[in-house]
Amino acid sequence: MEKTCPCGSNFSYIDCCQPYHQIKMLPPTPEALMRSRYTAYAMHLVDYLMETTHPAKRILYNKVDIENWAKKNKWLRLEICQTNNDVVTFKAYYEHQLQLEIHHERSIFKKDGNRWFYFSGSYFS
Ligand SMILES: [Zn+2]
Repeated sequence: MEKTCPCGSNFSYIDCCQPYHQIKMLPPTPEALMRSRYTAYAMHLVDYLMETTHPAKRILYNKVDIENWAKKNKWLRLEICQTNNDVVTFKAYYEHQLQLEIHHERSIFKKDGNRWFYFSGSYFS
C-alpha cells in the first residue's frame, strides 16, 4: 500500500506532491502549489518551502524558522476552503503541545513565467 499524500488528495504521495517536491513537475495551479507546500511542512522539506516562496518575498523568511515551525507541530490535515484565481483560502489542522490548532490563511500566489509562487498571506484568528 502506498501512503496517501498528507495534503488530503487521496492520491498516493508519489502520484501527488512528490513530483513537485522533486521539481520533476511544476504545480499547475495555486491550489496544487498550496497542497504541495502543506505536504512540505508535514515532511519538513524546508528547501521546497523557500524555493516556492516568491523571490521578492524570500527575505521575510529563513530556513531555521520554517524548519522549527514545521517540526514542532504535528500536521494533521489540510482543508482547502476556497480557490479563486490566484487566491487560496485554507485551514491547516495541526497539533501543537498536544493542543489542536487551526491555521486559517488566505494566501496569494503569483505566477512568474510558467511557475507559481507563494506571494503573501493574511491570517484569520
Ligand atoms: Zn499531495
